[in-house]
This record gives sequence, C-alpha cells and structure tokens, in this order.
Amino acid sequence: MNIREKILIVEDEKNIAQFIAAVLDGQGYETIQARTGAEGLSMISSHCPDLIILDLGLPDMDGLEILRQLRSWSSLPVVVVSARSHERDKVTALDQGADDYLTKPFHLAELNARIKCIIRRKQQDGEMHINLANIIVYPDRHAVYINEEELVLNRKEFDLLYYFVTNPDRLISKGALAESIWGDYIDQADSFDFIYSQVKNLRKKLKSAGATAEIKAVYGFGYKMVNEE
Ligand code: CA
Repeated sequence: MNIREKILIVEDEKNIAQFIAAVLDGQGYETIQARTGAEGLSMISSHCPDLIILDLGLPDMDGLEILRQLRSWSSLPVVVVSARSHERDKVTALDQGADDYLTKPFHLAELNARIKCIIRRKQQDGEMHINLANIIVYPDRHAVYINEEELVLNRKEFDLLYYFVTNPDRLISKGALAESIWGDYIDQADSFDFIYSQVKNLRKKLKSAGATAEIKAVYGFGYKMVNEE
C-alpha cells in the first residue's frame, strides 16, 4: 500500500502557495494550504501532514515562532522558505529545528529534490521498534513480529513482553513486574498469580512462534529474558 505523503504549505502569498501546490500535486503529493500562522498550527493538529513548507514572513506571526511551538511537541519535517537571505536567519531556523532552508526565489526543482530527500530519510528511519533476538516489538501499535510473522498477544502479555525486551538479560522480580504492569494498587498476592499465568502463556506463544529469546523463570525470585541466539 502506498499512501500519498501529505504536505502542508504555510504561505500567505496565494500565488506562490498555489504554484508550489500545483508542482507538488504533479509529483504525486497531496497538498493542503494555510495562509496564516494560526491557521497553519491548527492544520498541523487537525490534518496530520507528513511535511511542512513554512514561509517565515506571515501576516499574524513569525514563521520561526511556529517552528518553535511545533518543536515543543513534534519532530515533523519542516522546510523553511523565506525571502530573508541573511545567513543569520538561516542558522536560526536550522537551530530551531528546521530540516532545510530555501531562500526565495528558489527553483521548484530544488524544493522538490529537498522534499524527496527528507521523505526518503524519514522512511528509512522507519517506525520506532525494539529488537531482541528474532523478536521485533512496535510499541506504538502494540504489534510483535517473530520471523516476520505477527504474534497475537493480549494487552497484558504485550505489556509484559515489552518490559522484558526493554530489560534484556536482567533479573526481574515478580514485584517489579507487577508494579510496572498493574501498578501498585493491586493486591500483590493476586497480581503474582496473574503474572504467573500471563508469563506462562507468553512463554508458550513465544516458543511456538519460534522465538530465539526465552523468558526463564528464576526460582523464588522472578524472571529473566535471555537471548538464545
Ligand atoms: Ca510571506
């Protein structure tokens, strides 16, 4: 499945914005436009763009302020385009987290090349995941793969596995597990029984899926996840 990358163009000059949009649409991107900084910020939240082309000279606020606000919560790629050609402005924008900077007037071919490069880099970085032996865990979507096959786990089994793969080769007490998975508001004796049965199920599932890391029981204490590769 190939989802089109969505690009938000924050630019008050309508002609420039529409020209950029036409070229990017022609390249297969989906484009949306904002004419003011406030509109741009609200569209970032409501439309989840993959990349932003940001003009610095906007009627209601400085583009650098938008960048500063955005960077407090997101690493979304931003290409700054500006008529300001001072080296200082460029350095400030890059310092504040812009991924690239183009001075107006620029060639659209150049903008297009920069965008392609940023998107490729983003795709290569890929989704956040954790790897232990042949187990890959994707925390954002609660998915686990073993030898490229998805392993179906219930929520508690997933939480347990996540705790184990982020603490490999460490002796983990049942108390620590109970606290991290259930919090400390559950009766300890009850939660130990839960842990025992959930870990047992998880071990069985990992084993039958061919996992090369194993959760070993440490008698009287707890567990340890060991990479057997
Ligand atoms: Ca402008």
